[in-house]
Amino acid sequence: MAVSEDYGRVDFELILNIYNRLILEFSGGIIRDMQRCPKCNSEKLMHNVRIIDRGHNDWIKSLEVEVFTKPDAIFFKGSHREALEATICGKCGHTELTVTNPDKLYQAYLESQRNSI
Ligand SMILES: [Zn+2]
Repeated sequence: MAVSEDYGRVDFELILNIYNRLILEFSGGIIRDMQRCPKCNSEKLMHNVRIIDRGHNDWIKSLEVEVFTKPDAIFFKGSHREALEATICGKCGHTELTVTNPDKLYQAYLESQRNSI
């Protein structure tokens, strides 16, 4: 009896870890809602942490990713930018990055694929 109970507990932790990894790998939009660290299983998560970058004259701005909808154009490449945000584990420091509007960025990416030569 004791052995099967132990197996039950191990299986539950294993399933929880697999569940967390599946969420990370297949659901970009759900990462922000994760409740536990995928690496150490801690609940000490900090969500939507701004990542800063320094621009001209040391101006502080949010770190962004950029997709050009017309990548082969010489001018007016159709820049589309989205800010990156971090979810950071307060126990082990594991950090996951997400984009604020992944749907809009993906639409710009699809447009870039249609417009590239
Ligand atoms: Zn952690």
